[in-house]
Order: sequence, then structure tokens, then C-alpha cells
Amino acid sequence: MPKVYFVIPCYNEEEVLPETIKRLNSKLLSLIDDGKADEDSRMIFVDDGSKDKTWSIISAYSKENKYIGGVKLAHNRGHQNALLSGLMTAKEEKCDCAISLDADLQDDINVIDQFIDKYIDGCEVVYGVRNNRKKDTFFKRSTAQGYYKFMKMLGVDIVYNHADYRLMGSKALDALSEYKEVNLFLRGIVPLIGYRSDYVYYERNERFAGESKYPLKKMIKFAVDGITSFSIKPLKIILNIGIFICALSVVGFIYALVSFCMGSAVAGWASTICSIWFLGGLQMLCIGIVGTYVGKIYGEVKERPRYRIEEKIINASEPSDYDNKNKI
Ligand code: UDP
Ligand code: MG
Repeated sequence: MPKVYFVIPCYNEEEVLPETIKRLNSKLLSLIDDGKADEDSRMIFVDDGSKDKTWSIISAYSKENKYIGGVKLAHNRGHQNALLSGLMTAKEEKCDCAISLDADLQDDINVIDQFIDKYIDGCEVVYGVRNNRKKDTFFKRSTAQGYYKFMKMLGVDIVYNHADYRLMGSKALDALSEYKEVNLFLRGIVPLIGYRSDYVYYERNERFAGESKYPLKKMIKFAVDGITSFSIKPLKIILNIGIFICALSVVGFIYALVSFCMGSAVAGWASTICSIWFLGGLQMLCIGIVGTYVGKIYGEVKERPRYRIEEKIINASEPSDYDNKNKI
């Protein structure tokens, strides 16, 4: 039976925590009873520098209940960092798999059984995918769907309608720990890990208490982070615009020259218009070239792992009788 860890980032969640703990506790106990999770399974609540009673609630419950654990971050580092700290704690505790959930339990916890079944079947990553967005406001639904499409266009591999409700096996967690980047966008990193993965579909509910900890400002920052941490296409677009305008300026130059020769142009117009277009294009082109190098530096500084070996088969070979001493 796998040792399952639930990881729950919490920021100012005093209103939901007692109920969330109750529901998750009974879920975990039923998984243990049904023989789907090991007795050593745990729930880890990460307090992301909350200003309310979140931490005192977590610590009080952890004293009474051995299945409950907590991690307190020194200050508010945001959902993604809080989640990562919880996942890395689960990895250090040698869990077999970790399931990340939001503290408001908007994501249906009844599908956890399916997550674990898929893990037992050999999946290292199981993505929770919303089967519809009917409960979202029109604004949230259209911006979110537009965003997924835009990311696809930029060549970023993210799972449509999947947020951070997912299961990761210990191998996937080890792999995740190799990604050293600071601007975290986990739903972009996880698909890069590889290994066998699958999806579980579920209905997302509304928050049962408290309000969203993701105001529009944080959401926009997160969306921009997602694009700029995974794609250098915007830089390539600058280069392409530069090339296009330079080419256009040549056409413009010919047109201006012809107008000038035919005497239909006002004096000084041809030379002005040609230089404006050409210099504009040249500047864009140069920024694009600088951007190409910046894009490479950006790729290098991330120090992402270049490959991941999933399996290795090497049949022990005979020791070589080549005499190394004869080598100069
Ligand atoms: N959260 C966090 N740190 C933050 C903001 C949010 O740990 O700075 C947690 C929050 O407690 C919740 C999860 O991230 O468990 C998702 O937040 P929320 O439900 O408010 O987002 P929404 O569902 O409205 O997008
Ligand atoms: Mg929520």
C-alpha cells in the first residue's frame, strides 16, 4: 500500500481549516480502511505566512491527531512556493506519492481514490482536470480558456483545465526537486518531467467559506510568470517584426524613389520616410538579435535537467585487458 501524503497550502484560511481538516481526515481514514493508503500516510498543511489563526489551528490539530502535520513558512511566499515546500517535505518524509489540494476543497476529494488507483497502475503523475467551467464567472472562464490557448500557441505544454490538483509519485517528486528555478509555475514544470501520466476528471465546487486568496493582481502576475518562465517566443516575435519592417522599408524605398523620380513627391519626403522605416526596422532587428542571446542566457540560468533516465539496462561486461600503463 502506498504511503500517501496530502499537501495543502494555506494562506489566511482560519474560516475553512477546521472543516477541511475534518473532511480530509475522514477521507484519509477511509483510504486506510479500504487498503488504498498505508497507515503511515499523512496530511501536511503549509502555512504560507498567514496573518490570522491558521498556524495555531494547524498546530493544535497536529497535537491531537497523528495524521496531521504542518509546515510554517516565515513569510508569505505565494501559493506555488508554499505548495513546493509541502511537496519537498513529503519527499523528505519518503512518501510514495503526494496529492496537492487547495485548503478550500473546491476540488472534489472523492476522486482521490481514482488518483491512487492510477498511481498503483504505474502512473507517476496524475492530473486532476475540471470537466467544465460552468461554475466560474464569465470573466474567469473566458480569460482562463483564452490563456490556455495562448500558452499552446507559444509552445508551452500545459494541461487544459488543470490547476494544481494532482498526484505525484516519489520519482516525479525527485525530478521536481531538480528544477531550481525561482519563478515557479508548477503546472508548466510537471509536464516537463516526463514519466507515465494520466488524467482524472472532476467537478469543481465553490468555496464553502472565506474568500479567494487569489485577487486579480496576483492572478495576472501568475499568468505573466507562466508565459515568461516557459516561452521565449515573445523575443522571437520581436526579431520577426524587425525583419518584416526592414523588408517593408526596402519596398517603401523603391516606392519613394519612383515617386521622387516622377516628381510627384514633396521635397524631403522620400528621404525622411525611407530613413524612418529603415531605422525603425533596424532597431527592431537589433533588439531581436539581443533578445535571441537573452533567450539563451535565460535557458542557461534555469539549469533545468537536460534529460531524465527512466530505466537503465546494462549487462555487466567483461573487464577489459587493455593495459592502461602503455598509454602515454
Ligand atoms: N494560497 C497560498 N498562498 C497565497 C495565496 C493562496 O498558500 O499567497 C493558497 C490558499 O490558501 C488556497 C490555495 O492557495 O489553499 C488556492 O487559493 P484560493 O482558493 O484562494 O484561489 P482560487 O481558488 O480562488 O483561485
Ligand atoms: Mg479556491
